[in-house]
Amino acid sequence: MQDLTEGVARFRSDVFPAKAELFAHLATHHTPHTLFIGCSDARVVPELITGAEPGDLFVVRTAGNLVPAHAPGADGVAASIEYAVAALGVKDIVVCGHSACGAMTALAEGHDLSGAPAVADWLRLASASVARTAADGDVPALVRQNVLAQLTNLATHPSVAKALAEGTVALHGWVYDIPTGRVEDLTAAAA
Ligand SMILES: [Zn+2]
Repeated sequence: MQDLTEGVARFRSDVFPAKAELFAHLATHHTPHTLFIGCSDARVVPELITGAEPGDLFVVRTAGNLVPAHAPGADGVAASIEYAVAALGVKDIVVCGHSACGAMTALAEGHDLSGAPAVADWLRLASASVARTAADGDVPALVRQNVLAQLTNLATHPSVAKALAEGTVALHGWVYDIPTGRVEDLTAAAA
């Protein structure tokens, strides 16, 4: 915790003054251009890998960067998506998977998740992606398949469906490779 406390102090003394004008603007403006949906994995830092500034990205991070398809009932992921698209008017939505994803590894390799029932329930959302990935244990293939499946799920959310129909939002599927820092755009060819 001391690291964080020192980090906060450094932010106040060094980082904040250097961007004082930006923070003054952000105090009264919230106009992110992109909804970034990534994995909760500590190694995948959206602002760092995209060079984004505070205020640029509206970020949702979930285990395995999973986006549940639209369904009735309260859902924090759905609420954040709707707010980003319908209220904030983001122009792009990125779903970003990554190498060595713990969630995808557990699914691809069939790990026993009986000791983590909430994780097991959540990862069941990726069952179709597992089924579509030909080889058992092929984590990179499942990571890619999973990203594409979340783009499909995104389109089931009414706010996203409306923005897609009106041509005001574009969906992108990325995979971030931790050892090389490379980002592969799975949707580049189709865009
Ligand atoms: Zn992950």
